[in-house]
This record gives sequence, C-alpha cells and structure tokens, in this order.
Amino acid sequence: MEHHPLQSLINLIEFDRELIKIERVLDETQKRITQLQKEEAKIKVDHETAIQHVRDAKKIVHEHEVTMKDLDLREQAKKKLLEETDSQKVYETLKKEINFLKKSQYDHEKKLVQCWKELEAAQKTFDEQESKFKEKQESLQKKYAEEDATVQKLTADLNDLYKERVKKEKLVPQEWIQKYNMMRKQTDNPIVRVEYDSCSGCFAQLPPQSILDLKQKKLLQCNSCYRFIYLPEELEEEPITQKNE
Ligand SMILES: [Zn+2]
Repeated sequence: MEHHPLQSLINLIEFDRELIKIERVLDETQKRITQLQKEEAKIKVDHETAIQHVRDAKKIVHEHEVTMKDLDLREQAKKKLLEETDSQKVYETLKKEINFLKKSQYDHEKKLVQCWKELEAAQKTFDEQESKFKEKQESLQKKYAEEDATVQKLTADLNDLYKERVKKEKLVPQEWIQKYNMMRKQTDNPIVRVEYDSCSGCFAQLPPQSILDLKQKKLLQCNSCYRFIYLPEELEEEPITQKNE
C-alpha cells in the first residue's frame, strides 16, 4: 500500500513521542544517580569528620602524656640533686622547684583525664557511626548499581531508536522535516486533524481554500496555532463520528 507522505510524518511524530518518553526516563534516572552520588559524598564527609575527631583527640592525649612524662623526669632529676646537695640554699630552691613540678603534674593530670573523656566520646560517636555508615553506603551503592543498569539499558535502547528514526525521517519530505523540527520545540502535538473544517488543536475555522489544498495533499499549517493540519479522510482514517471515544 502506498503511504501518504503525511502518514509518514504522523508516524515520525508518534515515534518521537515514544522517544521523548524514554529520554525523559533516562534524564530522571540520571538525576537520581546524581542525588545518590551527593548523598554518598555527604556520608563520606561525616564519616571522615568522625575519624578526624578521634585522631585529634588521640593527638591531644598523647601530647599531655608526653608532658606528664617530661614533668616526671624533671622531678626525678631535681630529687636526685636534692639528695646530693649540702647547701641549705640550694636545698630550699630545689624543694620549691619540686613542689612547682608536682603542682604542674597535678594540673596536667586533671587536663589529661578530661582529654581521655573527650577521646572516649569521639570514639563512641565514631563506633556508632561506623556501622550505620557501612549500612548506608551499601544501600546507596546497591541503588546506584540498579539505576546505572537502567541507564545502560535505556542508552542502548535509545541508540537503536535513533538509528530507526533516521529511516523513518527519510520517508518524510525534507521541507516538512524542517517545519516539524521547528514546531516540535513549541508543542507536543504538532500535527492535528481537521474536524468540522476547523483545526482540532485550537478550533480556529479554516478557509475553504485550505480544505481544498489539504485535499491536494499539501502540507498546511493552521494560521492561528501553526500546527500541521490534515484531513482524516485523506489518511483513510475512520470517520470522525465513530472515532470519538
Ligand atoms: Zn490551530
């Protein structure tokens, strides 16, 4: 059966509608992937922060322990000197210095206890977060894998459809393709039937000449909305009265 060129255009438009649906699904899937990647990046930052807190707390504890050890060594050295001296004056000075070191040790010990508590708290936060982090990361990666598989499949499907589209486009006169390409950016139903001598897209009445031209199989656009218009009978469609749902 010989195809009316307009039928080829209609076929192309219908084909494009399906294509656009798939492109939208692909686009939404890719947006969800971006969201998943953002979520994963965020939980990684939180996890890194918890690790860093533990590291910092350990460092502070270590510094205090080094200071404590230093104070202890200095105290022992002074005590040794104290035992060895014969001078009352030196003895008194050393005694003062030892007392000062003891006080420093006492102060530092209090600080050290506080630092240990902070380290413990940081460690507890980290431990709690650690199990949740792994769970959450696994769940995100699982979702990511699913979405990624969808992307792969849709991309492959689309590549096939684009190839098919080239064939379909060849069946339509070039001049119509150019007009269609402009129209499709503006409306998602660029081609409509003529019903009761009116454009069924915007209901504008058509001049009798247009109806005659349509019968000559010319490609016309509605003067009011610029959609392509066609006579259903020219495409051997069912009469309008029966086509109404
Ligand atoms: Zn119109």
